[in-house]
Amino acid sequence: MKQLPAETVRLLSSSQVITSVVSVVKELIENSLDANATSIDVKLENYGFDKIEVRDNGDGIKAADVPVMAVKHYTSKISCPEDLECLTTYGFRGEALGSICCIAEVLITTKTAADDFSTQYILDSSGHVTSQKPSHLGQGTSVTALKLFKNLPVRKQFYSTSKKCKEELKKIQDLLMAYGIIKPELRIIFTHNKELYRDHQLILSATEQLSDGNNLRLLPTWTEFELVT
Ligand code: ADP
Ligand code: MG
Repeated sequence: MKQLPAETVRLLSSSQVITSVVSVVKELIENSLDANATSIDVKLENYGFDKIEVRDNGDGIKAADVPVMAVKHYTSKISCPEDLECLTTYGFRGEALGSICCIAEVLITTKTAADDFSTQYILDSSGHVTSQKPSHLGQGTSVTALKLFKNLPVRKQFYSTSKKCKEELKKIQDLLMAYGIIKPELRIIFTHNKELYRDHQLILSATEQLSDGNNLRLLPTWTEFELVT
């Protein structure tokens, strides 16, 4: 037996955390929700294999956290096993961004309330920042993953038919709908190949008071658009 090189171990473990386009979208949306976002834009190109971008209006990432934001096993959410007893966040393992960096090219743009302007960071495959430049986004964070599975041909092969790709889009739509149902105040916009695929605008449920004093709960609805493939 031989010990696998560290780079191979990293790639294999990342491919277990990130198994599909939908798992990237899920991890990025959960990060946005953990950062108190109320509006999230999800944009895909070529079913997410060329580009996945998730942009939120959440708290942003503090400059002090930037050097480790995408390094595996760094998290702002727990600091000891006891914290697992009272989790209030979706994430806590500090693995998502690091895993995405390992199997895609990643850019992160972020701005906190304390920052004067946003900064765009380019990350390498180990999640370290290789360059940065000022940017023009408002408060929040935008994570872009380019060329997903560029170094995992087996995963790409799995999505080589248009049927599989369309199934993946449907799964993403269902996932966004699920978040919409549990978070009625959340606004999500989903775009594929620059065409608005589903415009998901949720209306605050608790504020809609019926005349009999009961609250009207409005379920999320999608405005239907033609899917451009
Ligand atoms: P985890 O969510 O388990 O902590 P991630 O790799 O998903 O691990 O994210 C690492 C850290 O980067 C988070 O703990 C958080 O501090 C920061 N982060 C990631 N995405 C966002 C975001 N959209 N807004 C604000 N902070 C973020
Ligand atoms: Mg996370």
